[in-house]
Amino acid sequence: MSKEKNSFPKRRKLTVDDYVEGVLSRNRTIIAQTITLVESNSLKHMEMAQEVLKKLLPFTGNSIRIGITGVPGAGKSTLIESFGMMLCEEGHRVAVLAVDPSSSISGGSILGDKTRMESLSKSRNAFVRPSPSGGTLGGVTRKSRETLLVCEAAGFDVILVETVGVGQSEITVRSMVDFFLVIMLTGAGDELQGIKKGIMEIADAIFVNKADGDNKRKALSTKADINQILHYLQPATEGWTPRAYTCSALTGEGIPEIWKVISDYKEFATNSGVFEKRRQNQLLDWTNSMIHDQLKSMFYSDEAVKGLLPEVEKDILDGKLSATLGVHRLIESFMESRFHGGVKEKR
Ligand code: GDP
Repeated sequence: MSKEKNSFPKRRKLTVDDYVEGVLSRNRTIIAQTITLVESNSLKHMEMAQEVLKKLLPFTGNSIRIGITGVPGAGKSTLIESFGMMLCEEGHRVAVLAVDPSSSISGGSILGDKTRMESLSKSRNAFVRPSPSGGTLGGVTRKSRETLLVCEAAGFDVILVETVGVGQSEITVRSMVDFFLVIMLTGAGDELQGIKKGIMEIADAIFVNKADGDNKRKALSTKADINQILHYLQPATEGWTPRAYTCSALTGEGIPEIWKVISDYKEFATNSGVFEKRRQNQLLDWTNSMIHDQLKSMFYSDEAVKGLLPEVEKDILDGKLSATLGVHRLIESFMESRFHGGVKEKR
């Protein structure tokens, strides 16, 4: 548990300023409580969380945000533990977040169920937070993005965002980080050509893990195969050539190389302006995607739309209505119900 002085009231409810001061003074208990507030689905909490975030915003941004993905068993938690501990020893403050929307699909979490990163969780310079559960990928994304900001305001200068190498979540994590690290295992060449290609396209570096013992030679050959494929792919970051490396999270060999690559990347991306440009684009994309999600949710939860939708769908299937006209009817009815007496478009 934290030994930091806690000058905050234990009993009364925390105010916006309590949260803000607690985070800025790096009080671990309050940091965790602020994240819980940010992750809450209750409207009252969400409003308060937004006020807290607004006040924290000027203190955010001063970190390197690193996404880490790999299939289950690739060695993510072992590697994050080893990499994270190394960074803490070098004086960094490391926050580890997870994006795992599987919990809302399967009811169980791929990342969260086992005890992970035990030493790192206990380190005073680290903060490990499991994935928010429940809700859509959009919901999990919103929570993770805001948690990331809370961690930055709390002075964490390295933020690791971990995700499982399945489905859409890598793309989501790619869209919230500066650098994207893919952890792979040795495998047959044709396997690499197939499913892994998609993930290689969004990587800034690929580390072939478990390069130890008898597996080392195979890992080196996989590294060479990956480098060949990378050669033909469009780099994920303009002007930066992603490369493959080997490492062993178990022995620690190659782990310092990860930080070296990321530091080189940061220097390159900052000097070329790509770093800032990506963050700005991410912010705008995120804003747009929230507009998208919120409009969609307003639309489908609207009573008039809910009433009309089955009928319109049937008419479209029966060939009585074109899909375009069907959509038009639904949107008109949505607009009318939202803004009674609003101007109805004449056709
Ligand atoms: P995750 O599912 O990606 O988080 O993978 P874990 O970190 O839980 O690792 C899965 C298994 O691989 C565990 O039994 C680890 O001990 C083992 N493992 C992880 N990294 C290495 C490594 O570098 N070398 C070897 N030999 N085993 C490893």
